[in-house]
Amino acid sequence: MTPPSAPAARAAALDAADPLARFRDEFVPAGDVVAYLDGNSLGRPTKAAAERLARFATDEWGTRLIRGWDESWYELPLTLGDRIGAVALGAAPGQAFVGESTTVVLYKLVRAVLDLPEVAGRDEIVVDSQNFPTDRYLLEGIAAECGKRLVWIDAPGGVTLDALAVAVSDRTALVLLSHVAYRSGHLADLPEITRLAHERGALVLWDLCHSVGAMPLELDAWDVDVAAGCTYKYLNGGPGSPAFGYVRADLVERLRQPIQGWMGAAAPFEMGPAYEPHAGIRRFVSGTPTITSMLATGAMLDLIDEAGTDAIRAKSELLTAFALELADELLVPHGVAVTTPRDAARRGSHVTIDHPAFEEVVRELWATGVVPDFRRPHGIRLGLSPLSTSFDEVRIGVEAVRDALERRA
Ligand SMILES: *Cc1c(COP(=O)(O)O)cnc(C)c1O
Repeated sequence: MTPPSAPAARAAALDAADPLARFRDEFVPAGDVVAYLDGNSLGRPTKAAAERLARFATDEWGTRLIRGWDESWYELPLTLGDRIGAVALGAAPGQAFVGESTTVVLYKLVRAVLDLPEVAGRDEIVVDSQNFPTDRYLLEGIAAECGKRLVWIDAPGGVTLDALAVAVSDRTALVLLSHVAYRSGHLADLPEITRLAHERGALVLWDLCHSVGAMPLELDAWDVDVAAGCTYKYLNGGPGSPAFGYVRADLVERLRQPIQGWMGAAAPFEMGPAYEPHAGIRRFVSGTPTITSMLATGAMLDLIDEAGTDAIRAKSELLTAFALELADELLVPHGVAVTTPRDAARRGSHVTIDHPAFEEVVRELWATGVVPDFRRPHGIRLGLSPLSTSFDEVRIGVEAVRDALERRA
């Protein structure tokens, strides 16, 4: 048996064989950063986004001025929604919109769904204790506001079908889960969980923040009710770019969202005395959309469309497998624990490793241009963004963690 070759040689071979390697040139150079491993928190800007933002200021905003609203901005929350739907969600036109932060979009969707007559008599909302803070906090508030009770799934390894079966009953109005767990990277079985919740008469809201853009999604085919997700993670929309919402076709006209603003009213420019929701998906728009914050997302969607989400997922699986292989080889001997599922079919595009020294280690790494992120109590997340991350960056990152631990030993 030949011993495994050095990590650098394996990384070079993987990069040489990577059919998506050329996409790395489509991103703005990252300055002093030698390994960017946080694309799951904030994706890198594309070169096209940088150009689009500059051109927008000088040409579109600069010369079209208020006429821009009629020419394209007014429709942008819906045209960009359709584009996200087509490229990344598996959604037919007319079911996705771009709104505010994920938090606010989740609020709109949860409140709208709870008013549906088929679940209005049910008093429970199911959520998991490992879900992202905003999702949990938001539901605490909504439960208090609407007289509902939260039923918590406590599944540190990730929400399974069995765990769901125990929590969902004929009292469940809504289940809110993340497709990929933000901390562990566990990938939930979205189609089967949705099917089980539906069997029991509950609706499901999927938070897609950590899956959209990193894997193929088929929301229409999977019969998803409602969903929301970030655009600044794997859709590279930039800090604070607004979230999207998705609504199943037959629910669009039946839902009424609670933030009744003029831009989602039936006739916005009549400025009439009372609110009536606009026909179709526009009813989910509230106030003036954040046009400049939507430009970069559009640029990234062009790249995702060109690469294809199947190829993106294939590379994501290889990247996370390589990170796990190196973690086992170089970090586990130093007492590091691997939190992310070993089964590629059950993990998203980041790998989480834990060690008590990691808070300090991450500070050191950031200062040297190796940029993963830190999650309490002592986790490092290696976020691997398939179109911008190289296998060699994974190697550099894991070796830097090993070196930092060796310096402490
Ligand atoms: C990143 C993330 C959010 C972020 O919410 P914002 O309101 O956009 O800040 C919400 N939910 C999950 C699961 C996330 O990963």
